[in-house]
Amino acid sequence: DDARLSQELSKMDGASYGRYKSLKGDWDFGDFTLTVQRVQADPFAPPSRLRILRPDAGIPESAYADPVRRRATADFLGRLARRLLKGSRLKIDTGGQEVLVRSSCRVGADGSLDLRFGLDLPGHGRRIDGRAAERELCRTVPELVDDLDWEEIDRKAAEAYADSVVDTVALREALSGRGLVAFVADGAVLPRRSGVSDEPLTGAGMVPFASPESLRVSVDLPHRGTVTGMGVPEGITLIVGGGFHGKSTLLHALERGVYDHVPGDGRELVVTRADAVKIRAEEGRRVERVDVGPFVRNLPTGSDTRDFRTENASGSTSQAANICEAVEAGSHTLLVDEDSTATNLMIRDERMQELVHGDREPLVPFIDLVRPLYREQGVSTVLVMGGSGDYFDVADHVVMLDAYHPHDVTERARALARERTDSVFTRPRARVVDPRSVDDRGAKGRSRLKRRDMDVLTFGESDVDVRSVEQFVDAGQITGAGLALRALVQGGHLNGSRTLAEALDSLDRALAERGVSLLGDDFDGDYVLPRRHEVAAVLNRLRTLRVAEQR
Ligand code: ADP
Ligand code: MG
Repeated sequence: DDARLSQELSKMDGASYGRYKSLKGDWDFGDFTLTVQRVQADPFAPPSRLRILRPDAGIPESAYADPVRRRATADFLGRLARRLLKGSRLKIDTGGQEVLVRSSCRVGADGSLDLRFGLDLPGHGRRIDGRAAERELCRTVPELVDDLDWEEIDRKAAEAYADSVVDTVALREALSGRGLVAFVADGAVLPRRSGVSDEPLTGAGMVPFASPESLRVSVDLPHRGTVTGMGVPEGITLIVGGGFHGKSTLLHALERGVYDHVPGDGRELVVTRADAVKIRAEEGRRVERVDVGPFVRNLPTGSDTRDFRTENASGSTSQAANICEAVEAGSHTLLVDEDSTATNLMIRDERMQELVHGDREPLVPFIDLVRPLYREQGVSTVLVMGGSGDYFDVADHVVMLDAYHPHDVTERARALARERTDSVFTRPRARVVDPRSVDDRGAKGRSRLKRRDMDVLTFGESDVDVRSVEQFVDAGQITGAGLALRALVQGGHLNGSRTLAEALDSLDRALAERGVSLLGDDFDGDYVLPRRHEVAAVLNRLRTLRVAEQR
């Protein structure tokens, strides 16, 4: 077929651009198949889409038998492909500092290699440039496939890459058994190069992480052996310190610790429980029948706060909804930074209580709920708070950052703590979603599912703003979350009056069984497998969402 494709392309040379359409379909190259999945209508349209499927790329069973190694090996090969394709028109999506399951490069459970590319099909104006197209499809593609053959690559590097990811996963899995919610290894590099670069900060000013002795734990890992670092215990951990001393940097590293990082990132051994959710205020978001009862008692509008709906939440009610939704979706670890919270939901000092009291204040501040959350629901919190000592009253551990060095100041903070009577945190009512309200089809009945402007997901009739969903770390996860929502509905996971949490459980099981292709093997864009918490986050922000019932 490769000779036939080559002929075809030389015949097309100079023809009108639309003739490229005839390339659609499978081309058999012998040891692999090239599929032209979608052809762009003109040279200015988004790139055409290609797929390469190679049943046997020589990958040994040791590199693909286990799903973690498979993910790491695929990620390694994807990044290698990107480097090999420098200067070509073929583009592969490889992501940033995290090692995620992505559609663009997959190693199958049978050892097959499956790659997806974008290709801007070359033209002279609106005429086909057949020679350039032939170069890409008939030369670059087979060369790439050869260069990715296991015999050709740096196998030691590939194995070390996978070993590193296996260690990260083992470290994260060790957390629960030790009563920890997070771990930060000694020597870890937390700060990033800049606000717009996720690469590690380098140079003399970078202070590597060094654990305080009282919180130091060591963990044995399969490849690296024993590592030491700071264990963040279950319960309530407060991170304090002067402004600019590295508090938010530490919390950010914990937010990202639900994902595995590439070797050399500096956060390979910074891990957080897989279900940790960053909580923030998010003024203006929609809320659909969420039980925010623990936080909001009686609103001036008289609406039922256990069945709370708004098209435009305030800072405090949005944060309350974010917490209740995270708990509903099954999170047992909350991460909170004063920089992005609503102050009136976090604290209320005595003088304010004297001035505004009783029924005039509908809000129960987080400080009165953070202990009940742990005691009654087993939900731990890691909280950055440099502006108020009130949280000393409720913290189990207090870590102070001093010029980026953490110190355990729990005893000193306890000496300053006061008695406090807290509130109760009854588990939010579980919601049953009306599946018809989660529809990826637009007015014309065709699927509308696309990420745009970085942080907006178009899903059916909704444009979902996910700017404040901070644990979306890869653009592909946003598309992936849209696809997961579609799978949630089309796979029937929401049916039978399942609660949202049950539906997410059911989807998770299906994904574990059938893999990421469940999200859409035929989908002709790049996407990344999201966590259930980000899938829930998109669902909760759909403008069309309807909750049928609360339990
Ligand atoms: P805070 O939240 O305490 O005000 P940040 O975490 O925002 O402080 O950090 C302030 C600055 O210090 C940021 O520019 C950050 O990149 C830098 N920084 C944080 N941790 C380190 C470190 N370990 N070494 C060097 N610089 C750091
Ligand atoms: Mg900060």
